[in-house]
Amino acid sequence: MRLPIAQPKLNGNEMMYVMDCLETNWISSKGKYIELFEKQFAQYMNVAHAVTTSNGTTALHLSLLAFGVAPGDEVIVPTLTFVATANAVRYCGATPVFADAEGETWNIDPQAIEAKITPRTKGIIAVHLYGHPADMDPIMDIARRYGLFVVEDTAEAHGAEYKGRKVGTIGDVGAFSLYGNKIITTGEGGMITTNNAALAAKIMLLKGQGMDPERRYWHPVIGYNYRMTNIQAAIGLGQLEKIDWHIENRLRVARLYRERLSSFRELTLPAKKPWAKNVYWLFTVLLNTDKISRDCVTARLATAGIETRPVFYPVHMLPPYVRSERSAGFPVAERISRSGFNLPTYADLTEAEVAYICEQLIKSVK
Ligand SMILES: *Cc1c(COP(=O)(O)O)cnc(C)c1O
Repeated sequence: MRLPIAQPKLNGNEMMYVMDCLETNWISSKGKYIELFEKQFAQYMNVAHAVTTSNGTTALHLSLLAFGVAPGDEVIVPTLTFVATANAVRYCGATPVFADAEGETWNIDPQAIEAKITPRTKGIIAVHLYGHPADMDPIMDIARRYGLFVVEDTAEAHGAEYKGRKVGTIGDVGAFSLYGNKIITTGEGGMITTNNAALAAKIMLLKGQGMDPERRYWHPVIGYNYRMTNIQAAIGLGQLEKIDWHIENRLRVARLYRERLSSFRELTLPAKKPWAKNVYWLFTVLLNTDKISRDCVTARLATAGIETRPVFYPVHMLPPYVRSERSAGFPVAERISRSGFNLPTYADLTEAEVAYICEQLIKSVK
């Protein structure tokens, strides 16, 4: 493919910091870059604690474990998300209970949440899909009324804002992914943010084999090895130092897409809510015409050297989840999934490349 869907950009101090790890022999999960990365991530997010993890999925798993999620419990998750959101609930032996998407932002519909609450419900995972914040106020309101925790799956939305507040700091916990195609990356990696010191301590304990911080090789609980390496943190620090550049350029790319596509009625573009700062992880469009199928359009784009990606299948449709008792009645998520696809979105995509993609896209639909 000439134009990939995503690619990382390592144009800061990443290489210098990695070389420092290699030269000083600090290549494993101890070292100064882990602390520096966590400290600066917390500062950027304006949150009390940031804890590195091995990836975004383990960040979600640790977040749920910190709330004691266990067999018999239910956690409400949007069906329109990457499968890891629901898998993390299953890793705890608990049941993900799916909620439909909301038609404009494509995120979990707050109105769909309340109907799913049972005496077994422990919490809610809100996902900020493709970089657009979920509507957090009504979600937090429901959570407070029912005594539920809120984990924000912020894997796709580093730096996105809801009413001026960074997402990942509004719920009890934020779980970030630092995979190679995310807003910033460590190759593989994750981060958990929270203002709750007790939760942060529990997460630290669980990610390091459950070893008592005051008593070496004493393990009061069954823990995990979900640690990040110093080398990954070195890359992450270099990325974080330039996060404003990464986000500004994603916004630039999104503006260019909007300029060229907004008058084209066969496509629905991402929502523009006054309360939302979208960081455009992937610029996503819905095809609203019966003249041609979504898969036909994306096949034509592939022929033109443009990689796209279909919107995720709603998780309730996937084989491990399809049999669950409450796996019907998600018309909005199914419609978005059927008609939506992601366009190439990365910080150094040029204006000429966006123009080419839009030209090919319009030609493919006509
Ligand atoms: C990428 C992603 C994850 C998982 O992150 P990994 O770092 O790949 O484990 C979880 N949730 C969502 C919504 C994601 O996009």
